[in-house]
Amino acid sequence: MRVLILGGTTEASAIASGLATGSPFEVTLSLAGRTAKPVLANGVTTRSGGFGGPEGLARWLADNQIDAVIDATHPFAAQISANATAATATLGLPLCTIVRPPWSAMPGDRWDAVRTIEDAAAALGDTPRRVFLSVGRQNIGAFQSAPSHAYVIRTIDPPEHADLPPDATVIESRGPFAIEDELDLLARHRIDVVVTKNAGGKATYAKIAAARQLQIPVVVIERPIKAGRHTVPTAADARLWLDTLHENARSERGV
Ligand code: NAP
Repeated sequence: MRVLILGGTTEASAIASGLATGSPFEVTLSLAGRTAKPVLANGVTTRSGGFGGPEGLARWLADNQIDAVIDATHPFAAQISANATAATATLGLPLCTIVRPPWSAMPGDRWDAVRTIEDAAAALGDTPRRVFLSVGRQNIGAFQSAPSHAYVIRTIDPPEHADLPPDATVIESRGPFAIEDELDLLARHRIDVVVTKNAGGKATYAKIAAARQLQIPVVVIERPIKAGRHTVPTAADARLWLDTLHENARSERGV
């Protein structure tokens, strides 16, 4: 069975690695190509770059005789999920979409939930604050509309210089992050507000726990709607879905 895994997440790499050897699946892992040094899955065929919208993706799926698609993209990657839903529907292909559960506020959390990145910038207000910005490289530009604050910006690859607000310190680092390190970072930079997407998962949760411990408010950007037909919360569930699909196909063929 030929499987396309849409990736760019730890879940995608985990499933792809698990299917790399000794499985009945021929896997291609697809990355958007945004990260200079992506975490690759050993022994898995990887392609990089956009397909050219839903039509381009449908063409690629047909050309490569793909039997099933796992959409393991990030909860905030809404466009590729819409494309995957449309392209697989056109071709009648099975699709499984991983949507990790979002983080929920716990007692002691001081969350300010906002809908968009622009709302997050506006939520910082006019009084100068020391902001820890952990929203990904592509979204930094929105904070130029809130130039009175001092920003500590953490990204995997360096942001575009033109996107940076006037007072910006950039930290290049890739998760997972430990709570002790996050406590140290927030204290060392005298952070008084954190801005994050509600990404969910364990790898980047420590900043939320650290902010709670230090009683620092967190501006939390809520998720966009992610399209899909069959949605599961974890990589293990997606693997189970794939195994069931394979078993059903075998039974139908009477193998
Ligand atoms: P997006 O807005 O949903 O997608 C924009 C376009 O990028 C898509 O239309 C597609 O181009 C291309 N694309 C996205 N994911 C792709 C993939 N896995 N393989 C091939 N092409 C892909 O996505 P995004 O928010 O920019 O995220 C880009 C990538 O970074 C995704 O793989 C995502 O999992 C990962 N990521 C995103 C975030 C985030 O906060 N958004 C965080 C961590 C990781 P075409 O239309 O040309 O096919």
